[in-house]
Amino acid sequence: GAPAGAGSESSAPPVCVLVLGMAGSGKTTLVQRLTAHLHSQNSPPYVINLDPAVRELPFPANIDIRDTVKYKEVMKQYGLGPNGGIVTSLNLFATRFDQVMKFIEKRQNTSQYVLIDTPGQIEVFTWSASGTIITEALASTFPSVVVYVMDTSRSTSPITFMSNMLYACSILYKTKLPFILAMNKTDIIDHSFAVEWMQDFEIFQDALNQETTYVSNLTRSMSLVLDEFYSSLKVVGVSAVLGTGLDEFFVKVSEAVDEYEREY
Ligand code: GDP
Ligand code: MG
Repeated sequence: GAPAGAGSESSAPPVCVLVLGMAGSGKTTLVQRLTAHLHSQNSPPYVINLDPAVRELPFPANIDIRDTVKYKEVMKQYGLGPNGGIVTSLNLFATRFDQVMKFIEKRQNTSQYVLIDTPGQIEVFTWSASGTIITEALASTFPSVVVYVMDTSRSTSPITFMSNMLYACSILYKTKLPFILAMNKTDIIDHSFAVEWMQDFEIFQDALNQETTYVSNLTRSMSLVLDEFYSSLKVVGVSAVLGTGLDEFFVKVSEAVDEYEREY
């Protein structure tokens, strides 16, 4: 693919960047920052919001699920709680996703990237039929990458870090798409500790040993499994608030797409 900022005129299909991550990890803030960054590079992205429950969007969305489904009304109409309302809203939207695909196709030659923000709670998207339908529709038509956003400042405990990585790993296996781990909030804490844990199994084991909580053999075995996951993982430290790490972010996106296209 062409590098970021190569200009707004491009004949290559746009790259879909699907932003996933735990609630509060910074998905929406990252999409906002990526959007601003691409605008400043003269390469405005096509931006899609799939979170029906977000109150205020800090970026202008080209397609906003809230324009099509009113999540509060869905809750009332179907007698659902907040979670059910969000899942049902996404389901209703997914049934019309062919129209969204047509809109993206029309933007083929003007946008180099399609940025997709997803609902706050990750499982709404990753463990629902509609999330799968949307992901597969995008990935079957456009080069696509999954960006898993991690709250680095909340992953400083080795157990929490490992749980987060196991979740990321499960999403990689579920989507089978090129995958980038964005360690966010590096303005609060540098991500080097996490990179070290991923590169050096002994250092991670030492960190585990220092945990006062009971650490089982299972935990140790799982961290061995993760070693395999890490070996092929693309990692980038970013701060969605400050906008740091974004050039490297887009380099990783291009690399991930190129490697994937060579393989398949
Ligand atoms: P989402 O639920 O994943 O969409 O997360 P949001 O983008 O709504 O962010 C959740 C909270 O984290 C908000 O208070 C953001 O201001 C904050 N946040 C997001 N990115 C960063 C970052 O890079 N650094 C810091 N310090 N805070 C961030
Ligand atoms: Mg959000």
